[in-house]
Amino acid sequence: MPRVSVSARRSAGFSLDDAARIRQMILSGKPSECPQCGFPLEATVGEAPVGKGDGGVWLVRCHGCGRNLVMQQPKP
Ligand SMILES: [Zn+2]
Repeated sequence: MPRVSVSARRSAGFSLDDAARIRQMILSGKPSECPQCGFPLEATVGEAPVGKGDGGVWLVRCHGCGRNLVMQQPKP
């Protein structure tokens, strides 16, 4: 997976409920779909923003509706 830097700028995001659902899908390793539009979600490894812990993050993006989500990778 290519590494990308996560911009501090946020566009439209997901609700907390959707974010929790997406997190479950990503963690279970299943192909994930956008809860809003059903488009396949794309997850890329990103750099953790400064001060946000030492773990990596996933940048989850939907190319269908343009929503995106940054989520912390679980610590081993
Ligand atoms: Zn979508």
